[in-house]
Amino acid sequence: MHVVIVGAGVAGVNAATKLVDNNFKGKITIIDMGLDPYRRPTSDVMRGFLGAGGWSDGKLTYHTSIGGHLSKYTGEEKAMELMDQVIENFKRFHPKPEEVQCSNPIDEPDFIKPHFGLRLFPVWHVGTDYLHEIGKNWYDYLVENGVEFKWETKVTNIDFDKNLVMYDDGWEDYDELIFGVGKSGIDFGKQLAEEYELPTEPKSVQIGVRFEAPQKHFQKLIDISYDFKLYQKFEEKGVSLRSFCTNNNAAYVAVEETYGDHSYNGHAKKDEAYRNDMTNFGILMEIRGIDKPFDWSREAVKKLQIDGTGTYYSPSHRVPSKTSEGEYVKTEIVNSLDSLYDAIGDNAVYIEDFIEDMKRIFPTLGNDWGVYMPEVKYLSPEPLVDYNNLSLKTRPNVHFVGDALSARGITVSGAQGTYVAESILKVRKLDILDEVRSYK
Ligand SMILES: Cc1cc2nc3c(=O)[nH]c(=O)nc-3n(C[C@H](O)[C@H](O)[C@H](O)COP(=O)(O)OP(=O)(O)OC[C@H]3O[C@@H](n4cnc5c(N)ncnc54)[C@H](O)[C@@H]3O)c2cc1C
Repeated sequence: MHVVIVGAGVAGVNAATKLVDNNFKGKITIIDMGLDPYRRPTSDVMRGFLGAGGWSDGKLTYHTSIGGHLSKYTGEEKAMELMDQVIENFKRFHPKPEEVQCSNPIDEPDFIKPHFGLRLFPVWHVGTDYLHEIGKNWYDYLVENGVEFKWETKVTNIDFDKNLVMYDDGWEDYDELIFGVGKSGIDFGKQLAEEYELPTEPKSVQIGVRFEAPQKHFQKLIDISYDFKLYQKFEEKGVSLRSFCTNNNAAYVAVEETYGDHSYNGHAKKDEAYRNDMTNFGILMEIRGIDKPFDWSREAVKKLQIDGTGTYYSPSHRVPSKTSEGEYVKTEIVNSLDSLYDAIGDNAVYIEDFIEDMKRIFPTLGNDWGVYMPEVKYLSPEPLVDYNNLSLKTRPNVHFVGDALSARGITVSGAQGTYVAESILKVRKLDILDEVRSYK
């Protein structure tokens, strides 16, 4: 049996690991347009071994309501077990596993009320610099166990009828295909969905800004919850907002590139040498009821670009910060939030209000902040899959996983990959039993 995995991201790598750990005797090929962890430059945030997860902050959220859909396919108990496996993998290849820390808030603190609610869930924090080392150990394990990698190879098409994965100078045939192209491959997923008329479920818009300020203003909340998720809901307006992916201590803003446009995200390093005492997080807004949300978000992102990059605003003229490599974050400075209003209309007022409310609960904050625009979660329409193995309804040997399906984070993406690998192992076991029976 030949398993081909498109995308060496978190989902694909966890799938391969599950197969290898279980002595899978077939062939495993992983194709990725990026580089292996030894050659991958830090500037390549989205592509290569462990994908976006490999150069991320490494916050491993541990709750079924965070990071996209998992329990809807697997049930609650199985979802937690799968997430355990992913977290265990990150610890297993970690040079210092004891440094992976868990933050687990159990109560909403009074000082955030009545302006915000706080999502309560555990999160394990790995840190970007350790992720690089984890990536190397993990990659070596897979290579030593016979997994074949094709690097710098962009898959350009897949023939679901002939079971072929095609790239510029060749192709691979597959028995089982795991499609885990993440956010950097979102346009490719969309192309396949259109070409094969895959039934999909529409998704809401998630757009906003990446907020950045000195950490001291937020310390009393960080002490309770490292990756704090403050939220506000305006049910009657179909709008909700939340802080998203908080980075602290050695926190850096990262530029993401999707469809040739820039948007922002963040990561944090563990090594004290990188400490900058900054905090950054997304303020993401979910807006329901928008016609063609995917096209709407793309248009909004375009409106926030100047000279090929995103924009930055600070009321106190803070300058954009530097990346961990010592260069200024790529952005164009603007003098107001007007462009945000142009891009997302009056919805921008919710973001301004969110910031005003933060100023109330963190009294030292004042105007000591800046925002990088936009931050966006492109939730492309989710392909409808068989809940038993995440395969397309009409193609039982094609499995969608990770951000290409319905995930939005490391643990859920890895768990989906693991779940698919388990289903392939089951099929393989049944095949062997059949072979044994026919031999007898
Ligand atoms: C800066 C940053 C910080 C983040 N921080 C966190 C965090 O702290 N916690 C968290 O839970 N989540 C975080 N995320 C999100 C998380 O990284 C993703 O949800 C997760 O990596 C998705 O896993 P995946 O396997 O689906 O895709 P990815 O990990 O994105 O991997 C997809 C892979 O597919 C490859 N690919 C794409 N298209 C093709 C093609 N056509 N041909 C060949 N290869 C292709 C890419 O090169 C890439 O390596 C962060 C993301 C970013 C960008």
